[in-house]
Amino acid sequence: MKAMSSRWTRVPVPIWKGEAETVLLKADLHIHTEFSMDCSTPLEKIVKRCQELGINCIAVADHGIVDGALMMQKLAPFRVIVAQEILTTQGEIMGMFLKETIPGGLTPQETIKRIRAQGGLVNIPHPFETMRGSALKDWAIDDIAGEIDLIEVLNSRSPFTANSEKAKAFAEKHGIPGSAGSDAHTLTEIGNACVEMPEFKDKDEFLKSLARGRISGGKSSIFVHIFSTWAKVKSRFLRRR
Ligand SMILES: [Zn+2]
Repeated sequence: MKAMSSRWTRVPVPIWKGEAETVLLKADLHIHTEFSMDCSTPLEKIVKRCQELGINCIAVADHGIVDGALMMQKLAPFRVIVAQEILTTQGEIMGMFLKETIPGGLTPQETIKRIRAQGGLVNIPHPFETMRGSALKDWAIDDIAGEIDLIEVLNSRSPFTANSEKAKAFAEKHGIPGSAGSDAHTLTEIGNACVEMPEFKDKDEFLKSLARGRISGGKSSIFVHIFSTWAKVKSRFLRRR
């Protein structure tokens, strides 16, 4: 990883006792790029925006494809986790630390099998969401509870705090770390939710590091949904031509 000049790169005081030299990441663990059908943000602009905000770790989790995330990994001068929001028969599951695209339309169990086959992690994006049709059904979350590695306890596009509280309670009950991400579909949303966490080498360290992370941020304006609807319409129109 190239050195970052960001103020988040090194912690001058031991935030975690005995770890004065801990490299601290400021991570937005849920970002979309123009590779998502409902997003038109180019990769380069995302990199620039992250650098402006001192974000030095992101998970690119496009809908149905990892190509943008793989490209971002080559392009960005900071840590990029290759992820994907996979639409299963019961709603979305996020695979993280992936190598290739996982097809949609499979059952949650089969999807998890495919994530594991790539050595990836299973994350539940926007859990217990009542407004979003694509959210994984509550009963399906319970069904796969033992297979979940991490769960979003803050998603800036999820309007209800009660859902976040449910997610936190679920994470606690099952002893899994809570994750946070802006779910940015536009540039201005990037960084609206972040985790400050120690640097990690691999997915196992990532989980440990996340468990010690500090989540910050909040909700995005409800108007951001207008932009992603517009991006979806635009991309459908362009595809038809
Ligand atoms: Zn998303």
